[in-house]
Amino acid sequence: MKRKRMRLVLMVLTVILSLNLGSIVEASSAATPFSSHRWRQPEVTYVFKTKSNYYRSIYKKAIKAWNKTGDFKFIAGTSKDHDVVLTTSTATTGKYNMLAGITFTKANSVGYFTSATVKLLRKNLATYKYSKADRVHVAEHELGHVIGLQHSTNSHSVMMANNRYNAIAGVDKTAVAKRDIMAVGKSSLSLQ
Ligand SMILES: [Zn+2]
Repeated sequence: MKRKRMRLVLMVLTVILSLNLGSIVEASSAATPFSSHRWRQPEVTYVFKTKSNYYRSIYKKAIKAWNKTGDFKFIAGTSKDHDVVLTTSTATTGKYNMLAGITFTKANSVGYFTSATVKLLRKNLATYKYSKADRVHVAEHELGHVIGLQHSTNSHSVMMANNRYNAIAGVDKTAVAKRDIMAVGKSSLSLQ
């Protein structure tokens, strides 16, 4: 059957996760959902591809915030050996339209992440007058996708689809702390 063949061919799944600009406010106390993909270990290595010291400092603040939770660690890698690329883009159209940031992840056939790229969309962030603190929240959200978190409807979660003002919340930390017991699966292609 065609579906079975598709699954065999899709050895590498690409998941695109992004953060919308805008201000939809939803209130809920639900825990932050975790995807069916995760890293084998609760840590990844990263490199900066952006030369901007401003954006490097934004990423560093977001990394520090996640590392502080104690449940997942971002470690500086090398140009030859890293899991995650952190960069920026000036793109504003196509799939980047109305987005503050976007994360691309790849997973192997078992369901473990193998690489990720995060882009903060600097032109859109400027157009919508995001403060540096807002941009750190966007970076925290995108790094949440790197870890494996999905969008949340909890009004406190950093993973709200349109998050601008939330930092990493208790519900986000709890979800990451439980990542080890989450089932890893070959979920279908998803786009957020
Ligand atoms: Zn998102």
